[in-house]
Amino acid sequence: MECFYEGPNFLVINPDECIDCSICVGECPVNAIVEASAIPLDQVHFVELNQTLSQDPRWTRITSTKTPLTEHEKWREVKSKLHLLQK
Ligand code: SF4
Repeated sequence: MECFYEGPNFLVINPDECIDCSICVGECPVNAIVEASAIPLDQVHFVELNQTLSQDPRWTRITSTKTPLTEHEKWREVKSKLHLLQK
């Protein structure tokens, strides 16, 4: 499935396109993706955010493997980043 979308500094998954195959769960190097049935209550609001942003025409569908951003290691352990989201 190609259900990942990219904004200026954030990735989202379109929950309507996701078929819950769970392949991406194990692929994420920082465990940022969980199965739909395992989303913690304090993160449920991210589902709506993912849906909204994935349908924004300015966000682009990712169709091929990309090189990690240069600063990705810096953000690995930072838990709270939502305030930095650029739309
Ligand atoms: S679980 Fe992950 S890999 Fe599978 S369809 Fe959903 S987003 Fe794509």
